[in-house]
Amino acid sequence: MRVISFVRLLLFVPLFFVGLMASAQKYPQNYFRYPLDSLPNLASPFGGLRPNHFHSGIDLRTNGKEGLPVYAAADGMISRIKVQRGGYGRAIYIDHPNGYTTVYGHLQQYKGPVAQWIHQYQYINESFEFDKIFLKPFLAVKKGDTIGLSGNSGGSSGPHLHYEIRNTHTENIVNPGLLGLIPFDTLDPAIEQVLIYKFVTEGLILKKKIVPNSKNCQLIDSFWVMKDTLFLDADTYGFGMETYDFIHNSKDHKDVFTYSLLQNNKLVFRHMLDNFAFSESKYINAHLDFPYYKINQTRIQKCFVDDGNEFSTYTFDKRRGKVRFEPNENGELLFQSSDISGNTCYLKIPYQITSVQPDLDKIVYKNSILGKPAIYPGKVTHISRPGLDIKMKPKSVYDTVYYDIEINPTKKGTLSPEYAFHTSNVPIHAAFDIAIKVDSIPDYLKSKLLLAYSNSKSNYLSSAGGTYSNGWVRGTGSNFGDYSVVLDSIAPTIKKMRFKNDDDASDSLRFDFEIKDNFSGIKSVTGYINGTWILLDYDPKNNQVTYRFDEVYYSESDKLKASAEGLVPSFLVLKLKVEDYRGNKNEKEFEIPLR
Ligand SMILES: [Zn+2]
Repeated sequence: MRVISFVRLLLFVPLFFVGLMASAQKYPQNYFRYPLDSLPNLASPFGGLRPNHFHSGIDLRTNGKEGLPVYAAADGMISRIKVQRGGYGRAIYIDHPNGYTTVYGHLQQYKGPVAQWIHQYQYINESFEFDKIFLKPFLAVKKGDTIGLSGNSGGSSGPHLHYEIRNTHTENIVNPGLLGLIPFDTLDPAIEQVLIYKFVTEGLILKKKIVPNSKNCQLIDSFWVMKDTLFLDADTYGFGMETYDFIHNSKDHKDVFTYSLLQNNKLVFRHMLDNFAFSESKYINAHLDFPYYKINQTRIQKCFVDDGNEFSTYTFDKRRGKVRFEPNENGELLFQSSDISGNTCYLKIPYQITSVQPDLDKIVYKNSILGKPAIYPGKVTHISRPGLDIKMKPKSVYDTVYYDIEINPTKKGTLSPEYAFHTSNVPIHAAFDIAIKVDSIPDYLKSKLLLAYSNSKSNYLSSAGGTYSNGWVRGTGSNFGDYSVVLDSIAPTIKKMRFKNDDDASDSLRFDFEIKDNFSGIKSVTGYINGTWILLDYDPKNNQVTYRFDEVYYSESDKLKASAEGLVPSFLVLKLKVEDYRGNKNEKEFEIPLR
């Protein structure tokens, strides 16, 4: 035990800490206060592995509640306010004099002088959603000022505060842990399994899985050493690992800050979530073994880099993390995984390489792609079939894809054959252009056409957008899978849910409506009281529209004027207008009695 600990201290811990410390030194320490009253409590770490993106900030726990005060992390100027139905919902950006910007998302409401400004801005522009970037210094805030209340607005699936620290100049998102925001944590991450792949002509074959446990490993602290030597034939290999972090007082596992692979003490590959650009977060689909994730719902993080993967968090050798084993060599592989607090686990695997062997899996794979057309990363590829036209962009794929295309008969509810374009188990980065031909559609229905998508496994159709022109419906595709043309001529529905006193703002009345659309989706929701535009909050994830009764629509002077003319009505008329993405409209009026 002593020997191993000594080796660990001498060789590996410094290697990791040199990296981490160098990273942390670049950033100001403890400049920003925690934006909530509680102690640092992470629901989701920086760079967490999400469907289609790396988490671009950290999620701070609000104990399942909304309405906690959110504080400015340091002195600064408000530089941007963004209100949207999805995404970060109600968000606020503050520029600080030290060159960093803090971002606060999913707010329930804004507080302080900015709240009034936003309310006015929405009424002047008659829009709930807006994205205002202030080119000149706007409102100043002091460290600790309440700028809003925490909430669950936008694309949030439970109350929390989404918090980011960005470099103001580059807009790169920085790991807040490197600026001192680290919750107390002494638990080591774990390496659940290591996957070993062989490379074949632009493809990957899973050859072996190693699941370390107390039987096949010698375990000393968090340092695991495989008892048995790993035998492989001479070839080029890639490695991947399933690894998680654990923190106190949380049952669910988190994603790690950094992991790496060393071969005989030389770095082969390292991924470190120091900072990255917002636009890079989709590289998650190349970072993971995407097909494995699609099939098994398990996220294997690769220790090698696809040709089309430009994620900036990697350090790798000249082979981009791919390991070439020569006949009869031996040595050891060291897998390492660390959290932001520096807690680290290690897995050492001794290996012995045999001679070059014929590999049946490789032959089977090569036969499976024989004669198939290919899509290459970095190139435009045109694909044309009767009734179908596809243009793949240079960044559409991460690696060469030998694809299949099938034309299936027209299915019930669709207006074109179904074009089965490869498989949704292969990721797409940049959306591609896709056009499908339609025959004999009456003129008045042409504007109601759009593309439908379903993944290779289900028959569930979802809208892929697109518009009709000259006999074709043209749109974009974000996934491989099945495409066809459908018609959406059905308007959204509007239902009154409840009119009640507001829990969030007890002095006002709150009106909730349910709106739903059958296919293309809700494009716009507008509301009026006695003909004057009112501010509605539309929450797509709950199909809910909320109006909080305020006085803007009906000012005191209007009331005086109306009463002077003897026109004080006994009720107000609230009108809702809803339109979907194919121009199908619905509207309804509701009477609100005056108290
Ligand atoms: Zn978040």
